[in-house]
Amino acid sequence: MDSPTPVLEETYADLLSEITPQEGERREILDPATGEVVGHAPVHTVDDLERAVAAAKAAQPAWAALGHERRSELMMQAADAIDAKAEALARLLSREQGKPLNGPNARFEVGGASGWMRAAAATPLGIEVVFDDGQTHAELHYRPIGVVGAIGPWNWPQMITVWQIAPALRMGNTVVIKPSEYTPLSVLALVAVINEVLPAGVVNIVSGGREVGAALSSHPDVGKVMFTGSTTTGKAIIRSSADTVKRLTLELGGNDAGIVLPDVDPRAIAEGVFWGAFINTGQTCAALKRLYVHDDVYDDVCEALVEVARSVPMGIGVDEQNVLGPLQNKQQFDIVDRLVESARVSGARVLVGGDPDRDQPGYFYPTTLVADVDNDNPLVAEEQFGPALPIIRYHHVEEAIEMANGLEVGLGASVWSSDRDRAREIAARIQSGTVWINSHGGVHPMVPFGGAKQSGYGLEFGVEGLKSLGVPQVVNG
Ligand code: NAD
Repeated sequence: MDSPTPVLEETYADLLSEITPQEGERREILDPATGEVVGHAPVHTVDDLERAVAAAKAAQPAWAALGHERRSELMMQAADAIDAKAEALARLLSREQGKPLNGPNARFEVGGASGWMRAAAATPLGIEVVFDDGQTHAELHYRPIGVVGAIGPWNWPQMITVWQIAPALRMGNTVVIKPSEYTPLSVLALVAVINEVLPAGVVNIVSGGREVGAALSSHPDVGKVMFTGSTTTGKAIIRSSADTVKRLTLELGGNDAGIVLPDVDPRAIAEGVFWGAFINTGQTCAALKRLYVHDDVYDDVCEALVEVARSVPMGIGVDEQNVLGPLQNKQQFDIVDRLVESARVSGARVLVGGDPDRDQPGYFYPTTLVADVDNDNPLVAEEQFGPALPIIRYHHVEEAIEMANGLEVGLGASVWSSDRDRAREIAARIQSGTVWINSHGGVHPMVPFGGAKQSGYGLEFGVEGLKSLGVPQVVNG
């Protein structure tokens, strides 16, 4: 691991000064790799939220009246604006979130933000004739909902914000964003860039805490909440939105299983398995979190993974060579630390990592692989959301399927095999929103994404994603 070096961030200085509050309460945001101050975020209140919702409500009719074509044009321009400031956005994101610039991290995330904006703008959504027998002619239209709330997490703050707001905008809604209190600057900066292009009041942001999120999800003038975060908070949002019968898309926690069949070539799959688990230093909802490996290939898979793990550099995000970074916050560091420890004391074998340097600044937790761990160990059963992968041995595939389906969550899963048909048969029996075959965690703006069980409901992306940001209306006659 690298020792901290001071970093001058000239690329984003202008953007940062634009979003730094000149008056009112503000708080320091610290770099999770070094502990240095990155910037200051406003502390918005429920009163600020009221103003933001009122602005969104006032702007919505004119935004909807622009029509799909004009809205799409403006969204394409917003994507161009993101691209024009991509390096500044990536550097600020890297310093605030901790993720490295390179690898599937900060630059990749900003590229995803503009890419998803473009995809939502370009995806056609026609009127569906659902029935026509000469007498009855029924069409399905999707009308704007009105004001949409977007409440997001700290792991992919910019990309997930765009996932939430781009389809909302495209469908004629205006939005009020409540970013995570851990990563407000990245989202404030993204919104500042988008708002260089979009009309005033269309995209609003309130940088507050949980109470602001709760007020947004119970607000009578908000028609839908797009929520991405933990299952616990998702349940709170279901409750607080009940009185206004709000529409919800809930992208909640996961604890994804991967099943490795005995016919794999361990070396050929090791890199894919590794990045499926360790993307964004494991702080990814649909990352591989529990690896079930057949006894025949168990030792070879472990060995191949250790080799990859040892070769991947972790360190400060803005140092160009690193591709793994720190955990974003102390709370997350403590969760990973506790769970790896629970496996170690149970007698599991730590193959690599598991011993953080507590004297160094920042929340670095080393890349950790844990073998011979029981399926009911907390490291397996709980969502650890960090750079640790428990590897569980199985003897019969039925046993692996049962263990994979044994939790209350079901976001993603994967099956690894050289026999695609066999892998697809197993995929059909897995309880999760997505099953990847011979990869894990890849998303695409045209491929629907969502959870099963307590990982949430509603789909994002593609045509299904656009439909979920409209009110279906049947015109019959
Ligand atoms: P979190 O639930 O703690 O916070 C998410 C957001 O909810 C924050 O903005 C927070 O301020 C807000 N919030 C907290 N209490 C609230 C309340 N009562 N009402 C309204 N809003 C409230 O989640 P997190 O720790 O920021 O993110 C990590 C979690 O997110 C993990 O469980 C991860 O799996 C999940 N996640 C899921 C997806 C997905 O697509 N399914 C994607 C990314 C992250």
